[in-house]
Amino acid sequence: MSKSEALFARAQKTIPGGVNSPVRAFKAVGGTPRFISKADGPYMYDADGKQYIDYIQSWGPMVLGHNNAAIREAVVAAAQNGLSYGAPTEAEIIMAELVSQLVPSMEMVRMVNSGTEATMSAIRLARGYTNRNKTLKFEGCYHGHADALLVKAGSGALTLGVPSSPGVPEDFAKHTLTVEYNNLDSVREAFVEHGDDIACIIVEPVAGNMNCIPPVEGFLEGLRAICDEYGAVLIFDEVMTGFRVAQGGAQARYNVEPDLTCLGKVIGGGMPVGAFGGKRKILEHIAPTGPIYQAGTLSGNPVAMAAGLAALTQLSDPSLYDSIFSNTERLAKGMTELAHKHGIPMTYNVAGSMFGIFFTDVEKVTNYQQAINCNTAQFNVFYHAMLDEGVYLAPASYEAGFVSKAHDEQIIATTLAAADRAFAKVVAA
Ligand code: PMP
Repeated sequence: MSKSEALFARAQKTIPGGVNSPVRAFKAVGGTPRFISKADGPYMYDADGKQYIDYIQSWGPMVLGHNNAAIREAVVAAAQNGLSYGAPTEAEIIMAELVSQLVPSMEMVRMVNSGTEATMSAIRLARGYTNRNKTLKFEGCYHGHADALLVKAGSGALTLGVPSSPGVPEDFAKHTLTVEYNNLDSVREAFVEHGDDIACIIVEPVAGNMNCIPPVEGFLEGLRAICDEYGAVLIFDEVMTGFRVAQGGAQARYNVEPDLTCLGKVIGGGMPVGAFGGKRKILEHIAPTGPIYQAGTLSGNPVAMAAGLAALTQLSDPSLYDSIFSNTERLAKGMTELAHKHGIPMTYNVAGSMFGIFFTDVEKVTNYQQAINCNTAQFNVFYHAMLDEGVYLAPASYEAGFVSKAHDEQIIATTLAAADRAFAKVVAA
């Protein structure tokens, strides 16, 4: 029995499913999740000492690679001054200033502890600000596990086939409208019917929870125009895309300005951090300046701020992204070409350092229905073949992949050589 197998058996006795977040349990692909003992650069190492090239990157945060020296040193230095004060610090101001500078639509910023908190709070703010009830979201987008957003959500919920979770009262879910991603007509229809009660549209400006699906041309611009027409708040959930698909996030990449932005993952450098922010005239409605309540014991935590600042400081150099983006394209295109060489239908999407490969003969995947119609049986064979080769992909075909600064051309070449052998196994299966 491997150490991961033994740990998984032990974990299941005291942790539901043996994991603290569902997708880690390998339910979609089967087999035993690898228990990780350490990570460095592009690599993770499991409890049995096996090395993996990691394309999950802690589900996005590690755009600089694992165990980044400057982040590690900043965390150690901050920890020497105490772990939490529950009182304001200068680091929080520097963080807000840096975020505003890198993402100019975020004129004011409030720190929280996760992406879920960021989206949940942004929606409350949008509702309180507009004095309306409804939220419009998109099929296949995931915005964390707050009640109002667990309505046909993607990611773990989708993978486990739980489109809307038990425990979410129908009365809560009824205020959430779900329409098709990349389809402006469906958005317009929802607004024609409910426009005077829609507080906000929340959207992943590049969807990363139904594999990787970038916005089609005009989609984000159209959402902006509809929100302007109806007086609704446009929320970009950039928890995944922030500081990843461009230095200024998807709003910079596609040049569309939201009213509110949610951040997470990269902004914490690997620590549990999220943030939301946006137009001053909206943010001023939140407590203590305004009546809309939002708070957090550990929000703006000094150790977390140190990690996040060390990450964002390094990402302040926009040229840093060039090689990450070209390596992401090299990887996704390379895998697709290899699949075709083996006669396996495949297409890919890339947005900056996010990528997705799809086992399908559809030319370009642009929505959830296309994403879920891909060949999961082939993906699962490919997944395990890659894992055996020492390449750690997301353990479900509905997840985007991530490339970091630490994934150089050599790492990509090694990955592609592994993929060539893995596709041969798919054909033989
Ligand atoms: N929004 C998006 C787009 C996400 O991808 C995620 C998590 N994958 C969240 C929100 C929720 O973030 P967290 O898991 O930190 O609560």
